[in-house]
Amino acid sequence: MIGYGLPHFPMTRASSVDDSSGVVARLIGVLGSERVHTHPLDLLVFGKDAGVTPGEAAVVVLPESTDEVAAVVRVATAAGVPVVARGAGTGLAGGAVPTSACVLVVLTRMNEIFEVDEVGRTAWVGAGLVNEALSNAVADHGLLFAPDPASQQTATIGGNVGTNAGGPHCLAEGSTIAHVLGMEVVTGDGEVMMVGGAAPDPLGYDLRGLFVGSEGTLGIVTRVLVRLVEVPPQLETMLISFVDVSDAARAVSEVIAEGVVPAALELMDGPMIEAVENFVHAGLPVGPGAVLLAEVSGHSVGVAADAALVREIAVLNGATEIRVARDEDDRALLWKGRKAAFGAIAQSAPDYYLNDTVVPRTRFVDVLDEIYAIAERYELRLLNLIHAGDGNFHPIVSYDAAEAGMTEKVIDATHEMVRAAVAAGGTLSGEHGIGIEKRDLMPEVFSADDLDAQERIRDAFDPLRLLNPGKVLPEGSRCLDRPPT
Ligand SMILES: Cc1cc2nc3c(=O)[nH]c(=O)nc-3n(C[C@H](O)[C@H](O)[C@H](O)COP(=O)(O)OP(=O)(O)OC[C@H]3O[C@@H](n4cnc5c(N)ncnc54)[C@H](O)[C@@H]3O)c2cc1C
Repeated sequence: MIGYGLPHFPMTRASSVDDSSGVVARLIGVLGSERVHTHPLDLLVFGKDAGVTPGEAAVVVLPESTDEVAAVVRVATAAGVPVVARGAGTGLAGGAVPTSACVLVVLTRMNEIFEVDEVGRTAWVGAGLVNEALSNAVADHGLLFAPDPASQQTATIGGNVGTNAGGPHCLAEGSTIAHVLGMEVVTGDGEVMMVGGAAPDPLGYDLRGLFVGSEGTLGIVTRVLVRLVEVPPQLETMLISFVDVSDAARAVSEVIAEGVVPAALELMDGPMIEAVENFVHAGLPVGPGAVLLAEVSGHSVGVAADAALVREIAVLNGATEIRVARDEDDRALLWKGRKAAFGAIAQSAPDYYLNDTVVPRTRFVDVLDEIYAIAERYELRLLNLIHAGDGNFHPIVSYDAAEAGMTEKVIDATHEMVRAAVAAGGTLSGEHGIGIEKRDLMPEVFSADDLDAQERIRDAFDPLRLLNPGKVLPEGSRCLDRPPT
């Protein structure tokens, strides 16, 4: 097994924290017993995310305000107990999974929309607000929150910030980092600080880039000032079929090379199409090959011209059928197919491992071939879902974890796939983050000095190393930790 480094989880119950340090009693003093959970079932359920890594918290707390979060952090850190931030727990890299007995701070009750400025197109929201709830709430103003992870009906804005989440429509709009103007953050010592703000060019160091994607290791985000964008006045959505996945990949490269940046450009390969069609019956063409779900948006003249160019390029690259969504219902059906993909996979086997890696568009076809070859060598069932416009691959292995050694085999195979992407000039993750699951692969893309610089940044915000320990940076990344040469 390749350095996966499954952490050794102590099966500590809350009582041990309670007994040894009185942390639970003090947390109850801050939040009341209703919002402090120590039942073993709660600890197990909240201790897991949507990835494959097991974990268990020592105590789960549900604060409702920034002051409460700060007080919780102070209680925990004073006792030397780690603190892990958790949104909805839909993360796929083990980011919110405790690696040791910790206080798990669940932010879902901090889901308020404090302020919407429809003229300035911004909103202040609680970190626990569900992504889609924000877009629904501002729809009457003709606005939306652009990052649209397929988990948007559940995932929180704080979790989106934690992972720098992307989504199908982030090709044109950019991922979460492009939509966060400012944040209120509780640091490792329980202080409240502001990062960024409404000004277009914040004074001093711009720390937003550090906090977005920091996976709860630099602070707990409690409120977020987000940018809102206009609901596109016009859309054209097309489902384009190809006999060969490499034809679809070439069409994607040519569309982007022509200077057209569609709002979304999603690719599903043959096995993925079959799984989705059996699940949602959207009329997808089952068989070998691939489909591209392409959407262009904007004002009517531009949309018509861009859509025509996408179709022309698709035909030149061997498209066999182009279905244009007739109306909003038809469009919703096509997107339902794409967005229900993970549910569809669950039909064929009890478990799946969804990986996330990025490949330069020019190496798209080579890497895809390698990924298929790796799956064949390991005798695994592979389905591919790709944010094709930005080369963000999601190779998905569907399997049964009850089979002895299967999970380890799947992880080995998917890590090989990630390595193939990295060898082709790609990187470890496009949107799901590093968490635990990619942590030990970090040295494959960063030098020892790069990792040391990141460790020193972490020290600046979390000198006690109690914020989400064991995540993102592998053990021994600090220059100080290296053996003398
Ligand atoms: C079916 C499915 C589809 C998905 N599709 C996508 C997709 O299209 N694009 C995509 O990017 N991801 C996708 N994901 C992954 C996941 O939904 C995202 O990573 C999402 O941003 C996680 O949000 P969450 O609220 O569930 O965060 P959690 O899983 O609870 O936490 C994720 C990380 O953020 C940290 N964190 C959470 N809240 C805070 C906070 N307030 N302050 C500081 N750190 C915090 C946690 O410590 C953890 O490291 C998908 C997951 C599933 C299950």
